[in-house]
Order: sequence, then structure tokens, then C-alpha cells
Amino acid sequence: MWARPLAGQEETRVDSSKPFPSICFCTLPIHSPQQKERIPSYRAPRLAVVSLRDYLVRNNFPEEKFHFLDIEMLSMSDSDLSTYFSNHKYDIVGLSAVLSHSYAQVKRASKLIREINPGALIVLGGHLATSANVILRKTEIDLCVVGDGELPFLNIVEYWQKHKVQIVPSALKQVRGLAFLDTDNNLTFTDYSTKTADERLPVPDYELFKSGLLDRPELVNSYFALATSVRQFSLDKRTYEPHRKPYFASVPSTKGCTARCTFCQRSTKGYRRVNLDDVESHICELIEKYDVGFISVQDENFGSRKDHTYAWADLMAKYDLIWQASGIRCTNVNADDVKYYKERGCSSLTFGIESGSQRILDMMEKNFDIEDVVAAVTACWDNKMYSALAFMVGMPGENSQTIRETGAFMGRMAHQLGMPPNYMDNAVFYAISFPGTPLYNFAQQLGLVGTGIEEEEKYLMKLADLRTNKWDYMNLNGKKSKEVLSWDLIVRAEANRTFSELNRKKPIRANEFAERWKDMSHWGKSRPTITNMKTLLLYVEEVIHDSVFAGSVTRFLPRPLAYWLIKNLYFFNIWSHYKVKQLLHGRNASGFRFYRDRQPNSTFDELEDSLGSARLERSLRHIVATGGKQLEEERGDAINRLMRGAVG
Ligand code: SF4
Repeated sequence: MWARPLAGQEETRVDSSKPFPSICFCTLPIHSPQQKERIPSYRAPRLAVVSLRDYLVRNNFPEEKFHFLDIEMLSMSDSDLSTYFSNHKYDIVGLSAVLSHSYAQVKRASKLIREINPGALIVLGGHLATSANVILRKTEIDLCVVGDGELPFLNIVEYWQKHKVQIVPSALKQVRGLAFLDTDNNLTFTDYSTKTADERLPVPDYELFKSGLLDRPELVNSYFALATSVRQFSLDKRTYEPHRKPYFASVPSTKGCTARCTFCQRSTKGYRRVNLDDVESHICELIEKYDVGFISVQDENFGSRKDHTYAWADLMAKYDLIWQASGIRCTNVNADDVKYYKERGCSSLTFGIESGSQRILDMMEKNFDIEDVVAAVTACWDNKMYSALAFMVGMPGENSQTIRETGAFMGRMAHQLGMPPNYMDNAVFYAISFPGTPLYNFAQQLGLVGTGIEEEEKYLMKLADLRTNKWDYMNLNGKKSKEVLSWDLIVRAEANRTFSELNRKKPIRANEFAERWKDMSHWGKSRPTITNMKTLLLYVEEVIHDSVFAGSVTRFLPRPLAYWLIKNLYFFNIWSHYKVKQLLHGRNASGFRFYRDRQPNSTFDELEDSLGSARLERSLRHIVATGGKQLEEERGDAINRLMRGAVG
């Protein structure tokens, strides 16, 4: 039996006359093992396991030899894992680490599996494989699959038939999409794998997902949630029509992305479409078996191929489904598209906006202008579709000016909607550096993350607990803590101020859609009831927060004074919290955990001169390419190729 080869891919032969290995494919949690059990209230389907199983089976791999274990959903403890792998001795164990957050879990699971089953070949796939140099040296992983997993995995089956768990570099080098340590302990990376010639992108398979839940099949319900529980559906009046089935589920329409933002991990190339006949069969099953009346599009970049997206919208309308998509590039839609989608059941489109500053958008390599964002969001609001704004602060180049630009943009959009910014569910995140992105390379270039194995492992361990908030932000700009900590507050304060200024000049009345949105907002509804000293203090803090930090009083002061006050009062607020804790708990008081392991060896301002005038020369990728020669020499070719990502 032969798997069809691709250009640049060695022909693969799986020998039916030899025994097939038993395979167990596992999902992993992203939080650190120390954290408590966290069964998510809603989870998007894991498509990689379906795709891998389907491809192997299409190539005559016996289905009964393929097993799935959902370690994440089952929140398996060490003893659960030990018991399971003692009872099931697999030849190959595949660990899926979708995000780099999973490193600590990979280390834990691979160690337990190795102890119990020393003869297993343990393979890792997912974005974490970018850090193969650390993983292969510091965990029990034997091989990392980098990029699309189907072809490399089929080759691994064939490899196992010949060599079992022995590492034979000359044979492994023939397989594209692998990283491994050779006999001299050097990292070998055979380049990013490619898609299969007969690729058929998967749709979720809930029977397979149930099989991975062992004796808790009821957990499969975590893949479905009430549509009225999320604003993307609850704001649309059609959601409440009596004939609608209540739940929503995620369904993919495409895979991949046409862009390459400098903060985004990309380990596959290209933009591929899911076969809509497969989607149609799948949604029939969802409607019948799982009471689904709403679809959330599970894409990274919805709408880049218009013919496909229009056909998708027609399909949703055929089954009278309400649907929504998020994380869309704003250049993917125009007003006509949005109207077309709305008429075919679309309730919400949200865009990857990230910043209201063109300088930062260019640094991120978003490849669009602020006015493109305005056009896309306005088209949604004109069609009474929910579209909240989400921003990410803290990219290299962020400063008080760009922060104010983002706030002003938020305020301007709020004015257009006729609704104060605080009611709009706008989010402000802080950037995190993931391996395999220019943002991570920049952090290494500055010396904020070391290039040694121990230092990189320390960072990966930390990633499990990092969140996109100010406390976990790595100071990529060398700005003072006081300034960095107030960025999200100043964005919101500037938004409120801009909204008020514009509204004074040209008052806009919220339409019925905006009024409904405002009514559903939680803003101002959660103020604590005063019952004792603690709740009194909390109440006072909230009042200070609204009047000073959110700008309802400070907006009457000149900007420099207002923002100076916000910055310093907020810092004083944090400091006093810490001091009270110290009084109560002495030396054991936990401080605020602002991330500052290392000092940068240079600041962004010193590197800014390398920016050019063309758009791509204003990208972080350009700064890293021109200033990172020393870093590249330190890391060597294999690591450099991994760290550049598939779209490098
Ligand atoms: S962040 Fe950028 S590169 Fe990543 S999926 Fe979104 S648009 Fe694509």
C-alpha cells in the first residue's frame, strides 16, 4: 500500500504484511499541572485528531488500531494517566500541543508514559513543536512533527514498522516535517511538512471525541453551549424565534490564513477550504442529534475566498441556521458581503483589529489601514450585527502616543454607534510572545528571553500560566512599569473622552439596535452592595475606578494632567494593596507579579532607526531581520528555520 507522495516528499510505503503499530492520540490541557481541574464550559472541537485518523485510515491503516484519549477534557491526574497507560500499552503515543502554553503538560505526560511504557515512540505535534530544540532535550518526546501532521505521521507508521523506537537519522531525514536529535545530539529539522495531495479537511466527529472520554461520554456536551449565553447570538432578534433549536456548535469552513501577523504562530502554509458537502452532512447531524440551531465558524481567517464564503452562507440559510464568525481580517468583507451574510442568518462578525494606531498595525504586519477597519465594522453595525472591538497593546513601538490613538479610535467608533465605549464589550489585551513569531525573536534579540536551553525552558514553563494581561506582560519597549501598567486604562479613558468630545460637537442618538446592546451590557451593574468594611472599600475603589481611571471625572482635566493622574494613582493603588497584604501576611504576602525576569539589552527606541518607509519595512519582521544577525548565529540553522515559522 502506498501513500501518494508530494513534490519534495519521499514516497511512503506502509507495509501491510508487517504488524501495524497501535496508536494513541492525546489532547493536552494548556494550563500548568499545578492548577486545579478546569473542565471548560464550552470547547471548540479538536480537528487534528479527526484529520489524522481519517488520513491514516484512507491509507489502509486499521481503524481499530487508532485510539483517542482526551487528557484535557478528562483533566487526568498523574495517577489517572499512570493507570490508563499501564492498562493500554501503545506502540506510538501522539501528543497534541495546539498552543505553546502546553509545554508543562507535555513534560508531565511524556515522563509518565515513558516510565510506564519505555518501548513507546512518543511524538509531539502542534504549534509547540516550534520549540523542538527544548522539547527533545528536556522531555521524553522522541520526535516532533512540524506543520501539517498527516504525511509525517503516515511516514512515522512506516518508519516504526522498520525501526520501531530506534532513532535512525538517515531514515528520519527522508521524512519532511520532522525535528529530532541525531546520534551526536544535534537538532535536525527536515523542513515544514506540506499538505497531502488528496487533502480533505475534516469536520468534527463526535463519536471519535466520545471515545476519548472513556467512562465520561457526557462530557461531549461541552462542545455545545446555549446560543443565548453569548452576545454574538443573543443580540440578534432571530435567536429568540420559537422554532430555533437552542445550542450552538463550532464548524470549520477553512483552514489557514492568508496573512502573517508578527505575533501569530503559523506552522502551516496556505489557505484551504472545507468541502461544503461534508459540512452539509455534518450540520444535518448536529441539528438532529445535538439540538443545534446556531453555528460558530471555527476558522482563523473566515471569508478570504468569497465564492466559498457565499456558498457557505447559502448553506446556512438552507438549514435556517443563525451563524457567526470571529477573528476575520477586515479586508475580507465589504458592505455588500455583510448584507448578503446577514440575509442568510449571520448574526455577528468580529474582526482582528488589534490597534487603533497605524504605526502599530504596520508593526504587526496587519496589511490594512485604520479606515479598512472602520468600513468593515460600520457595515456590520449598519446591518444590526454585533461586532465588538478587541485591541492588543504592548507590541514593540507602543508608547503613550499610540495608546492614545487606540483609545481615540475606540471613542470614535463608539460615537458612530451612539453608545458610550464602556457598554460595548471592547477588550484590551496585552501582547504575549510565542515561539516561532517575530515577536518572540524580538524578545530574544533584546535578551528578554535567553537562547540557552534552560532559559527557554523556563519561559515555556511560565507560558502555561501567562495570560494576555498586564501582570504577565513582558516589557518589550523598555518603558517604566508605571506607564505599562496604565496602558489599558488610558486606552479606555481616551475612548471615553473622545466619545464625549465628539458627542458634544455632533450628538448621535443610539438606534434601537445600539440601545438593545447597551441594555445587555454588564457595565455598571456589578457594583458591590455595602455590608461591611471590606465591601465599603471595594465600593470606594470602584467609584475611584470609574471617575479617575475610566475618565468620567478626569476627562474634564487637560490630557497630560489627566493621564499623569491615572498613571500615578493606579500605581499608588497597586502599591497600597501590596502594603496592606504585607501588613496582614508579613513576608509571605504575594506581590503583584509584573513580569520582569530580565532586563533588555537595548530598547525599542534604539532599534527604531532600522524601520524603512515602505509598509513592509515598518514591520517587526523587518527589525528582526535587520538586527537579529547575532541571534541567528547563536541559534544555528535548524532553530532559525523553526523560529521563523512556516510563513517566515
Ligand atoms: S492573527 Fe493574523 S496571521 Fe494570525 S490568523 Fe489572524 S490574520 Fe492570520
